[in-house]
Amino acid sequence: MRARIAAEAVRLKEAHRIVPTVAVVLVGDDPASALYVATKEKAVKETGFAARDLRFPASSSESALILEVEKLNADPSVHGILVQMPLPPHIEPRRVIGAIHSGKDVDGLTPANAGRLLTGEFGLNRGLVACTPLGAMMLLKETLGAQLSGLDAVVIGRSTLVGKPMAQLLLQENCTVTMAHSQTRDLAARAARADILVSAVGRAELVKGDWIKRGAAVIDVGMNRKAGADGKSKLVGDVAFDEALEVAGAITPVPGGVGPMTIACLMRNTLIAASLQAGLPSRDV
Ligand code: NAP
Repeated sequence: MRARIAAEAVRLKEAHRIVPTVAVVLVGDDPASALYVATKEKAVKETGFAARDLRFPASSSESALILEVEKLNADPSVHGILVQMPLPPHIEPRRVIGAIHSGKDVDGLTPANAGRLLTGEFGLNRGLVACTPLGAMMLLKETLGAQLSGLDAVVIGRSTLVGKPMAQLLLQENCTVTMAHSQTRDLAARAARADILVSAVGRAELVKGDWIKRGAAVIDVGMNRKAGADGKSKLVGDVAFDEALEVAGAITPVPGGVGPMTIACLMRNTLIAASLQAGLPSRDV
């Protein structure tokens, strides 16, 4: 998918002199956030796009940050705006995200784009969808295709970033969706009835092998640190992978599953945004 996006970026440049450009906004000096930003900027450049790096001190005020977002909204050379989370505690993320122009919201998180997902007005030439659920849905479609319709799906986690948009996408594909969260009763029994199980919680290996129906498709969104047998910290998902592998029909690994798809969808959203801002129809990649 990244290769197809890169080929489309070459075409946009040659035919229309457009280089899709993402502005990445980082506030403060949290090392994990700096690493995420560096990963995204590397992918942006590898795809033939341009990245504009904007860094602000942790002491920046909310109004100053919103002013910077508004400048980027008005800048025709910027097609996509990413604000890296988390923001310092004195800044309300919803107000900053809400300031991003929905056409440049390549993370798909503004109320306008979330609303379009709810009303079904998304897809090429329309609203931008949150990258992680979009990537997860692409994996499901590629694996299950037309068989998605009518399946029982359980989404564990109800965040605005992952759980809620994931449930909407599944509903759009005619799945029967259950949304589970920290207050859900009998979570294991509910999960065990799912043909599609998506976990977006952030608890290492919460989902055990016996929570999974034989043959189910399992999407593990979680990214958690856990001490390995050698005492070194390793990245694991929300799903006990080795146990799950025995019963699942298909499963995403951590790392190497949903994470790379999230980045690829970020590139795809940027391509769509750049095309639309130039008045061109966006092509499917
Ligand atoms: P979040 O905002 O903290 O939401 C977590 C959700 O899990 C909440 O809805 C919470 O329920 C629910 N939950 C917590 N403990 C639970 C439990 N014991 N049983 C059932 N549900 C429980 O997290 P997020 O931003 O959605 O991220 C979730 C995970 O995905 C994290 O590990 C994050 O790092 C990862 N992630 C990965 C990617 C990627 O690209 N791979 C992208 C985004 C996020 P309540 O609502 O009741 O509190």
